[in-house]
Amino acid sequence: MRAMLLSAPKKPLELVYVPRPQPGPDELLIRVRCCAVCRTDLHVWDGELTQPKLPLIMGHQIVGTVEQAGAAATGYTLGQRVGIPWLARACGDCKFCRSGRENLCGHARFAGYEIDGGYAEYAVVQAQFALPLPGSFPDVQAAPLLCAGLIGYRALTMTGDAERIGLYGFGSAAHIIAQVARFQGRRVFAFTRPGDERGQEFARSLGAEWAGGSDEMPPSTLDAAIIFAPAGSLVPRALRAIDRGGTVVCAGIHMSDLPSIPYELLWGERSLRSVANLTRRDGIEFLELAPRVPIHTEVRTYSLSDLELALDDLRNGQFTGSAVVTVAGESSASSGRWKLGI
Ligand SMILES: [Zn+2]
Ligand SMILES: [Zn+2]
Repeated sequence: MRAMLLSAPKKPLELVYVPRPQPGPDELLIRVRCCAVCRTDLHVWDGELTQPKLPLIMGHQIVGTVEQAGAAATGYTLGQRVGIPWLARACGDCKFCRSGRENLCGHARFAGYEIDGGYAEYAVVQAQFALPLPGSFPDVQAAPLLCAGLIGYRALTMTGDAERIGLYGFGSAAHIIAQVARFQGRRVFAFTRPGDERGQEFARSLGAEWAGGSDEMPPSTLDAAIIFAPAGSLVPRALRAIDRGGTVVCAGIHMSDLPSIPYELLWGERSLRSVANLTRRDGIEFLELAPRVPIHTEVRTYSLSDLELALDDLRNGQFTGSAVVTVAGESSASSGRWKLGI
């Protein structure tokens, strides 16, 4: 099968032919239609996440169809469209798995990092981690729901019933979560790179009542903030912007070091926490919610061989919304821009 292969961190990605993976007894073989790009891919490529399988096929927002199944795999039908998220396997038996916190399982395996992912024509996944996708979403529109949407949703739930929410970094995750927050009756304040007027306009078009640079204070105090950008320097800014009792959630898997902060920023029962990975329950809840909002993902598509371009464009802020690599299906012939009416 065709695959984009990473031989070592910081090395160019190569389009190569590799053997098609074989599903294990509890696994499904998925024929990949598309896979959305995530900032985590950049952290893997750059060597900031230090334990990748090598050589590696990255990609963990995979949309495809069930092609083949292991003898013990259950809960699917052949040909069914499913999504593979970041969490592709957990042990099911540790104290975390037994208490609904499989996202913290020490034996978890992550797609496109510890096992091969979706920038290829086929991928395998433990059957119970394949998520059914809402039928109203075309493939490329569904793909960004699988990490940007899902882990963003987990971060949003960590803010409790906060009404005024600050979103730091208005990329793939924030553009989805802003829509969910508005649907839930919350007020959204968006923070972009200073001077990113296009990003701020995009945020306002998705219901943010205010959008400005991450070096600015919002016009009113926030009840909570979610930091999607991987910059530790945003933590004290977000703590300064929230009210007493508020929470700052760091939603990324990697962040630059946090600066020293005066204790008064945390005083007043403010909380600072991270969100790690996802559970299947998050996936089922969020994918049930997505068509009711309804969420519209804005995506720019790239062909499989253009994966490096997609990652460079993400790094350089060259698009709004999400980037999706198409592997098979109607839109595989070319790269282009898809936009649903918002
Ligand atoms: Zn476990
Ligand atoms: Zn991701």
